[in-house]
Amino acid sequence: MLTRNAQIRFAEPTGLMFHHFHGGIHPMVQGSIDASQFRTILSAVGVQNILSADTWMQKAIDDELHPNETCVTFDDALLCQYEVAKPVLDELGIKAFWFIYTSVFEGTVEKLELFRYFRSTAFGDVDDFYHAFFRMVEERLGTLYVKLREEFDPATYLPNSPFYTWSDRWFRFLRDHVLGQEYFPIIEDMIDASKFDREKAAQILWLRGEQVRDLADQGHVIGLHSHTHPTTMGKLPYDEQLKEYRSNADYIFRLTGKTARVVSHPCNSYNADTLELLARLGIELGFRADVGQVRTRGPLEYRREDHANLLRLIQEC
Ligand SMILES: [Zn+2]
Repeated sequence: MLTRNAQIRFAEPTGLMFHHFHGGIHPMVQGSIDASQFRTILSAVGVQNILSADTWMQKAIDDELHPNETCVTFDDALLCQYEVAKPVLDELGIKAFWFIYTSVFEGTVEKLELFRYFRSTAFGDVDDFYHAFFRMVEERLGTLYVKLREEFDPATYLPNSPFYTWSDRWFRFLRDHVLGQEYFPIIEDMIDASKFDREKAAQILWLRGEQVRDLADQGHVIGLHSHTHPTTMGKLPYDEQLKEYRSNADYIFRLTGKTARVVSHPCNSYNADTLELLARLGIELGFRADVGQVRTRGPLEYRREDHANLLRLIQEC
C-alpha cells in the first residue's frame, strides 16, 4: 500500500520518466503502473513542482530551473501512456514531453517492445519466460554460456536501476551485449511456438499518428527518441546515428508540423558524436534515462528518475 502523503524532493532539476501503464485494454506488464499509482507519484513529487513541458524547456534553456522543479516525460510512443496517464494529466492541467521513435508510424513492428509484451503476457510470470529463454540461449551458445554466466557480475551491470532482479540483468546483458542480431530469431522462434498474435499486439502497443498530432496541438511537447530505437546508439558510427535522428526529426515534423527541439536518449546510450549531431539538428534540451553522475552535465543530459525508483522511494517514506 502506498503512503498517501509521502514526499519526494530532488537535489537538482530532474524529469520523471514513465514507460508502461496498465488499465482498460492494456494488460499489466513488467514494471507497469496504473492511473492511481501515477497520481500517487505526481502528488509525492508535488503537483506544484511539476512544470508543463514547454515551461520546463524554456527555463532549462535560460538556466532558470530550481532544483525541485520537475516535469513528466513519456518514452517510446506507447498507446497506454495516452489512454491511462494522459487523462490524469488533463485533470491536473499538466503538459508532458513525449519522446517517440517513429518507425512504428510506418507500420514497422518494433521488435524489442513487441517482445517485451510477448514475454509479459504469454507466460505465467516473467521468470517463466526467463527460464525458457535462458534454456534456449544455453542450447545455442553451449560452453560460452556457462563461462559468461560464471563471469557475470550483476552488481556492476545497470547499477542505477536497483529494481532489476538478477534475471532482469542477465537477460539484458545477454540481449544487449552477447546475442546482438541472434536475439531476434530466438524470440521469433518462441513466438511461433506460442498462440501470440503479433498484429493484435501492435494495435494495442503504439500511438497512432493522429494521436501524436493531437498531443502537439494540445500543447504537449513531442521530442526525438531515434527512428528505430537502437539499444546502443552510442556505439553506432556517426552517419548511422545521424540517419536515426534525422529520420526521427523529419517524421515528427510531418506528423505535427512542429520542429523538435528536445531529445531523450534511447536506453541512455549516447556519445560525444550523438551530442554533436543533435546540436546540429537544432536540439536544445535532452534527457538521460537515469540520475547517475555525469562529470560535466550539458544541456542534452538532464537527469530523469524512473517511475519504478519513484514508487520505491514512496514506499520507503
Ligand atoms: Zn525508449
